Amino acid sequence: MQLPVSAISLDFTRGRNLELLKQHGFPADKRLGVGIVDARNVWQIRPEPALSLVNQIQSITANLSLQPSASLQFVPYDAARETHLPEALRHVLSFAEQKLREVVFLARTVAGEDTKVDQNSIQSAWKAFEQFSPANPTVQDKLKNLKMNDFQRSLSYAVRLPQQQSLPPFPTTTIGSFPQTSEVRQLRVKYKRGELTLAEYQIAIDAQIGECIRLQEEIGLDVLVHGEFERTDMVEYFGQQLSGFGFTEQGWVQSYGSRCVRPPIIYGDVARTAPMTVREFQVAQSLTPKPVKGMLTAPVTILNWSFPRTDISRQDQAFQIALALRAEITDLEAAGATIIQVDEPALREGLPLKPERWHEYLSWAVDAFRLATAIAQPQTQIHTHMCYCEFGDIIKDIERLDADVISIENSRSNNQTLREVTEAGYSHQIGNGVYDIHSPVVPTTEQIVQQLEVGVANLPSQQIWVNPDCGLKTRRWEEVIPALKNMVAATQKLREAKHVL
Ligand code: GLN
Ligand code: ZN
Repeated sequence: MQLPVSAISLDFTRGRNLELLKQHGFPADKRLGVGIVDARNVWQIRPEPALSLVNQIQSITANLSLQPSASLQFVPYDAARETHLPEALRHVLSFAEQKLREVVFLARTVAGEDTKVDQNSIQSAWKAFEQFSPANPTVQDKLKNLKMNDFQRSLSYAVRLPQQQSLPPFPTTTIGSFPQTSEVRQLRVKYKRGELTLAEYQIAIDAQIGECIRLQEEIGLDVLVHGEFERTDMVEYFGQQLSGFGFTEQGWVQSYGSRCVRPPIIYGDVARTAPMTVREFQVAQSLTPKPVKGMLTAPVTILNWSFPRTDISRQDQAFQIALALRAEITDLEAAGATIIQVDEPALREGLPLKPERWHEYLSWAVDAFRLATAIAQPQTQIHTHMCYCEFGDIIKDIERLDADVISIENSRSNNQTLREVTEAGYSHQIGNGVYDIHSPVVPTTEQIVQQLEVGVANLPSQQIWVNPDCGLKTRRWEEVIPALKNMVAATQKLREAKHVL
């Protein structure tokens, strides 16, 4: 309050600022910037709660300005540019342009201008949206009736382990995606434009899968993947097949640096309408006697990389997605999958800033993963993957995921992650990425051997998997093939050396 500034802006769309303001008051010589239009989500305001909030704040301090709750970099530019979204949805979306209009609308209303016409049009947009996207009672009932058992695999890790796929010591695998060449991208574009029929598109994708399987066999990997050629993006691909998700054409936001993403918008109850990944899995598995991993994106990553709804909790949204994935796991098992990977790279980035709020988030976030995967038969090996992250402080939560195998991005952390895992006494299997896929440099066999030696020095051999540290989709085949050959050669050396079980 003593800061030598004339105005202070606070976010009133999240957190406890109203409460704190009531408790402590506000200095009379300063102006309060009321962050009232949520700049981190894409939904239009509801005039009544927004206006009543301003009223409450006005009773504490009179010198106000109204504004978005944060910079507008987190939302796309203009919802009016979207031509493919259902009208009823588009009319309740608010991107940067709309947010600024909302600020003006609220300010005019607070200043006493008659804005009934605008208020009514916002309210009727919301009514039309509610009719367009009613609740899905089946999903909501399932959510209400969840039992403890739904979150718990039928057997403990130690008991189910001997029932799972038997593999050579230090099994080799990859994280899922293989190079997304311009040829692969062209296929998807042509299909989207209607230049390829679904049948033609699938034949072309299957040819990519076939070649990818052939190469993995030639390289000598133990656990194969289908390559993810049909996926533009690990979240969008699932969102497009689930009900309750909307996709923009122009809704780009900055991800990091110069990279931008178009997050899906979760607008309704999420449900699976048909199997999402089974066809491609079956194609791949039919081409090889080696196990192919079923490949799914986990609930919290789908949620954290989308714009969520604000009318139900994030936990409920994550659980709805988990229920959809759960059904997919059962279908993958029925199609013959013995190993299923459920990627959760965005788990940690959803952590609240304040450590005292971590527990609440992690408890439902980990539960969502468990809800998705606990349905797996004991014989089914559940993998997960996490990108670069500091693990040390959440290792207990990582353990609670109860995944049989976790692959982590480690090469850039200089084995810090590995040490943290070791110190915590992590007991499940772990693939501590042996080379950095973000670099075009092809690692030598010797470098990978060295990396594996660090692993062996830290963890019992039976716990160790060998894999690159993330998906290979941004690399070129010319880099991927020699790198994986060296990885397999390094593993062979290790198997022949003193460490063989
Ligand atoms: N399975 C995904 C892939 O290989 C995982 C990507 C990620 O971790 N971000 O691309
Ligand atoms: Zn990754």
